[in-house]
Amino acid sequence: MKEKIETIPVNEAFRSEDECPFCYLERQAQQRAIRYIAGPGASYMEPLIRGKTDSRGFCGTHLKQLFDYGNSLGDALILQTYLVGMRKELDAQIAEFSAPPKKSLLGGKGEGENTLVQWEKEREESCFLCESIEESMARYFATFFFLIKDPEFRALVADGKGFCMRHFARLLEEAKSQLPNSQHDWFYATLLPLMQENLSRLQEDIDWFIQKFDYRNSGADWKNSRDAVSRVMQKLRGIYPADPPFKEK
Ligand SMILES: [Zn+2]
Ligand SMILES: [Zn+2]
Repeated sequence: MKEKIETIPVNEAFRSEDECPFCYLERQAQQRAIRYIAGPGASYMEPLIRGKTDSRGFCGTHLKQLFDYGNSLGDALILQTYLVGMRKELDAQIAEFSAPPKKSLLGGKGEGENTLVQWEKEREESCFLCESIEESMARYFATFFFLIKDPEFRALVADGKGFCMRHFARLLEEAKSQLPNSQHDWFYATLLPLMQENLSRLQEDIDWFIQKFDYRNSGADWKNSRDAVSRVMQKLRGIYPADPPFKEK
């Protein structure tokens, strides 16, 4: 199958021998998005982009990544205009705020839902970077279901290490609408055992990692277990705990 712009990164991820090719793609998308926002192109100075960061804000994970990336003046400019808008909204919330009644002596809690609480909950779920990473991920999943019509790509998937649990569940979810009928049997017959086999491989790695702490095994080979802890963590939650903070080189 001919390589297209979208298929190149997906093929590369599946050749990377990562514990999960979608984690690999997600990390790339994260770094691309951070660099786009805070990197040399300084897109945070473009009114259109700043309008978006002002309205969407950032989740805690991405604020930390922006901080680690190290463009502190860029961060300050983004935060400055964001704060102006947020404070305006908070002022409006406070103007409308009504305190719940005092707790009753019978032990009941004060009743009534505050819109301020609701407002903050919505803000916590909103993140400009999560949104742009999700756009890339949706494209990568679509590309996966396009590529599996190719026997060469199917072989790559079957010989791979499977997926992390988070992306495995998403693949199954996306399959409901995107899986070509021609690949229906192959997909389920391949992916489910692939996950079991690879989790069993990781079980062996973590078992051996622990056994290596027994003095009788101190001279024995680490086999594949040296980084077992971080790989199991990735398999479980789709994270790279051993990654250093992403910074501009
Ligand atoms: Zn993953
Ligand atoms: Zn985020």
